[in-house]
Amino acid sequence: MVETWNRFCATGHDTDFQAEPDTMGAVCQPPYFAIPLYPGGPNTKGGLRANARREVLDWDDTPIPRLYAAGEICSVFQFVYQGGGNLAECIVFGRIAGLNAAAEVPRVMAQDSTAT
Ligand SMILES: Cc1cc2nc3c(=O)[nH]c(=O)nc-3n(C[C@H](O)[C@H](O)[C@H](O)COP(=O)(O)OP(=O)(O)OC[C@H]3O[C@@H](n4cnc5c(N)ncnc54)[C@H](O)[C@@H]3O)c2cc1C
Repeated sequence: MVETWNRFCATGHDTDFQAEPDTMGAVCQPPYFAIPLYPGGPNTKGGLRANARREVLDWDDTPIPRLYAAGEICSVFQFVYQGGGNLAECIVFGRIAGLNAAAEVPRVMAQDSTAT
C-alpha cells in the first residue's frame, strides 16, 4: 500500500483516489506513527423538538411542563448540518432554556400555594 502511494506521488497521479497532486507527499522518512480512525459524524441532531422558549414539545406540539432542552438533542437545525452552528446554539438556547427553567416556580412552593 505504501509502495503504491509512493509510486503515485512520484508520478503525481493517484489512480486510486484521485488525490490532488499538490497535496501528495511520499511516505519515505521513518519513524512512522499510526492511529486508528473510524468513520463517524460530528452530529446526531434530531431527537427532541422544542419551541422558541426551549420547552420540549410532545407529539401534539404541546409543551411538556417543566421540561426544557438545548443543544444537539433538540437542534433548531434539525437534520441539516450547519457548520459552526452547534456550539452557537448551545450557548444561545442554553441560556434561554436556563432562564426559563429557573423562572419556574419550584414544585414544593407550587404545592404549598395550592394547599393554602
Ligand atoms: C469532532 C467534532 C467536531 C465538532 N466541531 C464543531 C464545530 O466546529 N462547531 C460547532 O458548532 N459544533 C461542532 N461540533 C458539534 C458540537 O460539539 C456539539 O453539537 C455540541 O458539543 C453538543 O453539545 P450538547 O451540550 O448539546 O451535547 P454534549 O456536548 O454531547 O453534552 C451532553 C452531556 O450529557 C452527558 N450525559 C449523557 N447521558 C447522561 C446521563 N444519563 N446523565 C447525565 N449526563 C449525561 C454527556 O456525558 C455529556 O457531557 C463538533 C462535534 C464533534 C464530535
